[in-house]
Amino acid sequence: MSLPDSFLDELRDRVSLVSVIGRRVKLERKGREHSGLCPFHTEKSPSFTVNEDKGFFHCFGCGAHGDVIGFEMRARGLSFLDAVEQLADEAGIEVPRASPEERARDQRRATLHEALDAATAWYEARLRDPGGAEGLAYLHRRGLTDETIARFRLGWAPMGGGLKAALMGDRFPEALLIEAGLLHRREDGSTRDLFRGRVTFPITDRRGG
Ligand SMILES: [Zn+2]
Repeated sequence: MSLPDSFLDELRDRVSLVSVIGRRVKLERKGREHSGLCPFHTEKSPSFTVNEDKGFFHCFGCGAHGDVIGFEMRARGLSFLDAVEQLADEAGIEVPRASPEERARDQRRATLHEALDAATAWYEARLRDPGGAEGLAYLHRRGLTDETIARFRLGWAPMGGGLKAALMGDRFPEALLIEAGLLHRREDGSTRDLFRGRVTFPITDRRGG
């Protein structure tokens, strides 16, 4: 869920950057700014400045820069949402709940079971495509009849994938398909079909699919 800008602006207004940073850094007032030793790199003379009016900190030594949320994320190793929640809590303001649109989108979202069922149906159809001929021949060679193949909902995962493109969307978001074990995440962060160029057997979840 993304937070409205108006809420984030209010949060930045309500918390004092100098007092939040002052918990970790001994700050001295210098004109319109405060300065101190940078908490993000080792230094002997202060190159870390805090500008309360502009709402950001900046370090001329290591380049660290950000607002109060960024400071908490960096100094305490928090996620954006965790930092926001803790600061909002301190400031006594409430983090907005999901909007009606976001709730509606969540409701359209399928369950794990539905994702597995849709994937099974998609793989079944691929077995009957020309591209599935190899898989179908393999099953026939193993002595499986078409009736058995249909009864056990066997399918074919094409060599080039295609499940992700066919299924992924509002109803089957990427995270759900990963959770269902249908996609896997590569090192570069992208995802691709887990099953390729093989016969598929229905994957069932704990409820017995
Ligand atoms: Zn620094």
